[in-house]
Amino acid sequence: MSKKDRVSSTLELRGVSRHFGPVKALDGLDLTIEPGELVALLGPSGCGKTTALRIVAGLEVATSGELLVNGQRYNDTPANARDMGMVFQSYSLFPNLSVADNIEYGLRARKIDFVTRNKRVAQMLELVSLENKAKSFPHQLSGGQQQRVALARALAIEPRVLLLDEPLSALDAQVRGQIREEIRRIQLELGITTLFVTHDQEEAMTIADRVGVMSHGKLEQIDKPITLYNSPATPFVASFVGLANRIPAEITGQGKAKVLNQKVKISDTAENFSKGAKVNVIIRPESLELVSGNDGDATRGIVALKSFLGPMTKIGIAVEGAPLIHLNIASRDVRKLEIGDAIAFKISSEEVMAERV
Ligand code: ATP
Repeated sequence: MSKKDRVSSTLELRGVSRHFGPVKALDGLDLTIEPGELVALLGPSGCGKTTALRIVAGLEVATSGELLVNGQRYNDTPANARDMGMVFQSYSLFPNLSVADNIEYGLRARKIDFVTRNKRVAQMLELVSLENKAKSFPHQLSGGQQQRVALARALAIEPRVLLLDEPLSALDAQVRGQIREEIRRIQLELGITTLFVTHDQEEAMTIADRVGVMSHGKLEQIDKPITLYNSPATPFVASFVGLANRIPAEITGQGKAKVLNQKVKISDTAENFSKGAKVNVIIRPESLELVSGNDGDATRGIVALKSFLGPMTKIGIAVEGAPLIHLNIASRDVRKLEIGDAIAFKISSEEVMAERV
């Protein structure tokens, strides 16, 4: 199975809602995933991302709205006839079956002939680099290896769409990075349309073509990772994607605010704040810069935290009347800075986002 043998599918959710009593787990979700694209749904616990994936898989029924694959309505197609490959957080391999038998399972269920089955299992083992583990049982494998088997099993049936539900959450940090790269390599190699659900923003941003940020059953924004980071559509997206300081501020006029003792411009959002309104402004650590203590417009504080992160060092500054403020500074520039030192900084970004307190 390679990219050229496969006809990739378009996956579409149109106004999909799912209500559990009074809870709107999904509230009119519109989402189109193009053939061969990997879209990550990202959001906090309870935002509805798993429900969206389960509806696509046929494990959950939509209260309203339509699910389409290549333009064809799939709402009433049973889960086992949808041809979707799924990988869950818990590896969910059959413990009594060998690696090869786990991979073969879906092919047997589809009554694929013996020769094709054997060929496909061998291809899948090669794809996930586990040729030498064919006869092992799941308990003899590491977590990362088990998740590779789960991926091979999902792909063996040559699914129309690959669905990944927090597939890396159970793995430790180093293995998580490796498996993430492997999933992306295989997904690109096969050109398979993929929906990836995660609450981990770094994971979503590094693996996906586009990331959809969800909140309360709705998509707040869906865009390329770089666009989400540089041009967040809402304060929620701005603070959820990338680290951000939330600093109390006061609106001083149309599109203007005073934060700490500095004047900032507020970027356009749907909300209009009246003069005197109390807001939080969202400022990324890299939008703050250290300046000389003689600068009259700067904010003064005390270094309260210094964490070395390799090329960058994260500094936490204690300022009266504000939460700890984080800056990222090139490590070579902060060698002499010590906890307890007096320090001054300015807001360097042209515009900041504001949200109601
Ligand atoms: P998590 O990352 O914690 O899994 P999520 O974003 O995937 O969160 P969902 O699992 O989709 O969120 O749940 C969305 C909302 O729907 C939550 O408020 C949840 O409690 C509710 N919910 C989900 N499944 C059911 C169910 N079977 N019965 C009742 N409520 C449910």
